[in-house]
Amino acid sequence: MRIVLIGAPGAGKGTYAQYFREKYCIPHISTGDIFREEISKNTDLGRLAKTYIDRGELVPDDIVNNIVKTRLSQPDVERGFILDGYPRTIVQAVYLDTLVNIDAVIHLIVSEEVAVKRLSGRRTCPICNRVYNIYFEPKPINDEICDYDGAKLVKRKDDEPDIVRNRYRVFYETFKPILDYYRSKNILIEIDANRSIREVAPELENILITRNILKIKPCKPDVKPG
Ligand code: AMP
Repeated sequence: MRIVLIGAPGAGKGTYAQYFREKYCIPHISTGDIFREEISKNTDLGRLAKTYIDRGELVPDDIVNNIVKTRLSQPDVERGFILDGYPRTIVQAVYLDTLVNIDAVIHLIVSEEVAVKRLSGRRTCPICNRVYNIYFEPKPINDEICDYDGAKLVKRKDDEPDIVRNRYRVFYETFKPILDYYRSKNILIEIDANRSIREVAPELENILITRNILKIKPCKPDVKPG
């Protein structure tokens, strides 16, 4: 199951990726997370990426492409993977096609208003990157604390409403050509993600099974969405 997940800020991308990762034991590969990790470790790559990210610019295609190539050559992608935040340019999309056959591109559609509401409650674990929401599912069992490692959850600076509205617009400017590219290849699945993940996840799994994309059995069948 080789999937690209596309969704505006607040669509729930991280939550869906986490659900699929846990239930099917396939890695969630987020180029943004890879950069954040490299930055926190202060590596050469991290310092270089930071110069672009801090200016609100995309990291150049050749750097991102190389990272994804290396990541997709690791053995844990054998059962499949979920790519998130990549591709972001047509150059990256064309390059990705030279690396692997993507089975489906899932576009989680969310309205701007729902996005703003969701992101004001979003919290992330700085250790394991699990994503929670203090207003919606999945809520942490204890306020502001990660269920798994007890770390204090953090709020991203760019989750403030005005910044979210701007990110939402920039998202569609950036991803429209990518969505068109995959639509023309007939592998784009668009789903209404204004609803809760409890409703959307089974629908999405059914679509993937019907199209013979989801062929692997869950490694943890008891994982529930949300
Ligand atoms: P994200 O968490 O996906 O929003 O990524 C955070 C930042 O990392 C972005 O704003 C970009 O500067 C950079 N980045 C992540 N993925 C890519 C990509 N595929 N191409 C270029 N830059 C990227």
